Amino acid sequence: MSDEALYIHIPYCRSKCGYCDFCSSPDLSTVDSYVAELIRRVKAYKTDKVVKSVYFGGGTPTYIGAERLCEILRAVKENHALSDDCEVTAEANPGTVGLRGLETMRKAGFNRLSAGIQTANEKELKALGRVSHTVKDGETLVKNARNAGFENISLDLMYGIPGQTPGSLDESLDFVISLMPEHISAYALRLEENTPLYKQNPVLPDDDTVADMYAQINKKLKANGYERYEISNFAKPGYESRHNLRYWQGGDYTGIGVSAASLIANVRYCQRLRLSQTSDTVKART
Ligand code: SF4
Repeated sequence: MSDEALYIHIPYCRSKCGYCDFCSSPDLSTVDSYVAELIRRVKAYKTDKVVKSVYFGGGTPTYIGAERLCEILRAVKENHALSDDCEVTAEANPGTVGLRGLETMRKAGFNRLSAGIQTANEKELKALGRVSHTVKDGETLVKNARNAGFENISLDLMYGIPGQTPGSLDESLDFVISLMPEHISAYALRLEENTPLYKQNPVLPDDDTVADMYAQINKKLKANGYERYEISNFAKPGYESRHNLRYWQGGDYTGIGVSAASLIANVRYCQRLRLSQTSDTVKART
C-alpha cells in the first residue's frame, strides 16, 4: 500500500477505569517530556507515503490539553504529507475538554472526535469504575464538539456491564442515538486480569445474554441508519472510519509512542520508549 496511517499514543487519563488494562496513567508529571519525545519521533520517522489517517488514541488524548495535541499534530503536518481528505481523529472522554479546547483542536486540523460515553446509566458507569464523569458530561462533550465544528463524531458504547439489562442497554442506545453521532462503536466488556474490576469478581450478564445484547445493538442501530462495517463498528453511510478499516483489512500502519503497535508488511511491532523516567513511570503504573 502506498499510503500511510499513523497512530499516536497518549498514555494519560484523568482516572483509571476499573476494567482498563490499556497503557495509561493519571499522573501528568511526565507529560511535557513525553510530548517532546513524541514530537522527536514524529520528526525522526521518515516515509514518503501519503498519510491518509492520523489517530490520537490512549489513554485520553484530550486529558493532556488541546494545545499539546495541536503541537503534536503540527509536527505531523510539518514532517509528513497528509492527503487533502486525511482523517484526523482524537479520542476524548467527558469532562476532559471544553468548547474552547475543541475549537482549538478543530482549527488545528482535527476533523473527527471519538468520545467514550459507554452507558447512559450512572450505576453502570460506577460499576465500570468510570468515576471521573457523569452521563450529563458525555452529552455536554458531544454538544460542545458540534458547536466547535466537528462534523464527524463517534461514540463508544459498552455492553455486558455488571448490572446491565436489555432494558438499560436500550436506554443507552436511545441516549447515544439521540446525540446523533455519525459513528458508533459498541464493545463487549472483557474482564482483564489484574484490573480492579477483575479482582472484584463481579456478576456479569451470562454469555447468552451478552450475545442477545449484541443482536439488540445490531438491530436498533440498523433501524436508525447505522450500518455495521466490522464487528464492533457502525456508521452512517460514508462515515466508516478510515483508520479502523485499515486495521480491519490488515493494512500497514505506524504507531508512535509508548505501547503503540505498528504493522508493516504483516509483521507487528510494538514501541517501547527508552526515555529517562517517562516510559518507566508510565509502564510502572499500567
Ligand atoms: S478512559 Fe479508556 S484508557 Fe483511560 S482508564 Fe478508562 S478505559 Fe482506560
